[in-house]
Amino acid sequence: MKTILVCNWKMNPPTWKEAKKLFDETKKAAQKARDVSVIVAPPSVYLRELAKVSRAIPLAVQHARAEEGGAHTGEISLAQAADTKATYAIVGHAESRARGTTNADTNAQILAALALKMAPILCVGESARSIQGEYFDVVRAQVKEALANVPQNRLATIMIAYEPVWAIGAPKPMQPRDMHEMGIFIRKTIVQGWGEIGHAVTILYGGAVDSTNAATMRDEGDVRGFLVGRASAEPSKIKALIQSLA
Ligand code: PEP
Repeated sequence: MKTILVCNWKMNPPTWKEAKKLFDETKKAAQKARDVSVIVAPPSVYLRELAKVSRAIPLAVQHARAEEGGAHTGEISLAQAADTKATYAIVGHAESRARGTTNADTNAQILAALALKMAPILCVGESARSIQGEYFDVVRAQVKEALANVPQNRLATIMIAYEPVWAIGAPKPMQPRDMHEMGIFIRKTIVQGWGEIGHAVTILYGGAVDSTNAATMRDEGDVRGFLVGRASAEPSKIKALIQSLA
């Protein structure tokens, strides 16, 4: 099975010229690595142009609202993102949640994305951990509320990126054995609500992934791939990361 790499460029790079260069370098590295499947999530202002220059790499919108239109200054809708030819939608990224996205919003976004034939990438993850283990309750609620009313036969379209907030932008990722445990918990949560299909859900990890730690996390953390921030936003880093997984 191919390793999935979702490149979340966040608010980078600053110019179209640099965005095109980063995309071209990412595409070149991806084409050499047949067992890695790359999805690029650029700032939405670059989506339409990038979709024109390559169909080989699918594009994701980083954040978009479920409503078709309305008084939401500075926001874009999933329908607008779909119109640029983005085929994936990141939903509930920790940085969107910090700006106010709720579990109810993630549910509306997932249902809207599915209706537009986009594949949602749902981000979940707790802000902090303590030995009492209440972070499992946080993740359970994020998963259950985001997936409410999603029909069983659409679950396989959705990827879940577990991204503990404390590991995003951190120097190091979480331990692979802790990811393994969380992967089992997320699958169990989905099986309890939606049945056996939960075992087939694609789980990604995000948080401080780079070329030095990704292969170990994939092999020991039981994940299908990664959602990557910093290591995807510089040509040399994404090339090294893709090569490390090939
Ligand atoms: C992210 O943006 O979701 C992320 C995981 O960032 P980083 O890889 O930089 O920690």
